[in-house]
Amino acid sequence: MGTPEPAEQLRYFKRQQSQIVETIKQLVEIESPSDVKQAVDRLGAVLASRFGELGGRVRVHKAEKFGNHLQVDFKPRGSSQQKPVLLLGHMDTVYPIGTISRMKCRVAKGRVWGPGVLDMKSGIALALHVVEAMLRWGRGKISRPVTLLLVSDEEVGSKSSRAITEGLARQASAVLVLEPAFGLHGAVKTARKGVGEYRLTVHGKAAHSGLDFENGQSAIIELANQIQEISKLVDSQRGITLNVGKIGGGTRVNVVPAEAHALIDVRVADPNDAAHIDRKLRALKPSNLQCRLEVSGEIGRPPMERTAGVASLYAKAKQIAAALGSELREAAVGGGSDGNFTATMGVPTLDGLGAVGEGAHAEHESVVISELPARAALLAGVIETV
Ligand SMILES: [Zn+2]
Repeated sequence: MGTPEPAEQLRYFKRQQSQIVETIKQLVEIESPSDVKQAVDRLGAVLASRFGELGGRVRVHKAEKFGNHLQVDFKPRGSSQQKPVLLLGHMDTVYPIGTISRMKCRVAKGRVWGPGVLDMKSGIALALHVVEAMLRWGRGKISRPVTLLLVSDEEVGSKSSRAITEGLARQASAVLVLEPAFGLHGAVKTARKGVGEYRLTVHGKAAHSGLDFENGQSAIIELANQIQEISKLVDSQRGITLNVGKIGGGTRVNVVPAEAHALIDVRVADPNDAAHIDRKLRALKPSNLQCRLEVSGEIGRPPMERTAGVASLYAKAKQIAAALGSELREAAVGGGSDGNFTATMGVPTLDGLGAVGEGAHAEHESVVISELPARAALLAGVIETV
């Protein structure tokens, strides 16, 4: 049989469309929030058996706090010297258990809806059906080595999976990330910002607001001043943003607050800016010298830069899309993914090869069904080429 022409691949995946939708629904129905190990492991077990049925060699990387990470290897006939391509995805979602009863998984208006459907259960479903197709075309053997890694902690920073991702990426010819495409035109992501989270804690001095006001040192007033300073570090032109997304502090309305804190989301486009902002935050000085500041946190995901390797991978993908009759755009985005780690290592990485849709992490999260066959054919083509 052999690998069919692009147009025939597209027709194949159009015939498979309803099966792909069924798989997506199956995966969405199994809720898998990052912080519930049992739940993510339940999804992991289903995926292990589905990829295992295809003939992949399943390996479970046990994790204590998070769900286990799932690795599946597919090897071609004979002893191939070719490096594997790494398909990278995550099983966890941002939605707590029970969300599915409110945000029902359903098919309507040409889309599949539900928690985690776009980010990224449909990406996993695409990988499954693409590998299945490649095995059919190769009469039971894949045409090149493919390694799939599905991690369980991506939505909470990938601390437990990062070393596994990096280890597999080091051996790979390229990394293809199954995160959703950008926008309804289905652009792939060739640059992503680095992401960090910091916590600023202000220690002041408590006092009775009526009897002893003069003796208090308000941590809240100091925090308010610091928030102004932090906002001055924003440089939109350079792609540097800092968002004080959460604050807290104080005990009672009639007590001068001894403690206040802020959580700060930091995004940078340039790796040099990561170190620069880190230094600036750690060097914050109290305006009230009776208060003390404490800064913790880090830029946990370095920026994914559009390196030559990324650009050439995009160029190949663009050619494949053209052969399938569509124009593949690229985008630089603010959100980070595990592709940030692998691109920083210098391994050619292309992100956003998952489904097309809208509303990741939101009530209207959904995937456009009619785009699924073309996304599958694109993924298959890129896997064959890199
Ligand atoms: Zn994601």
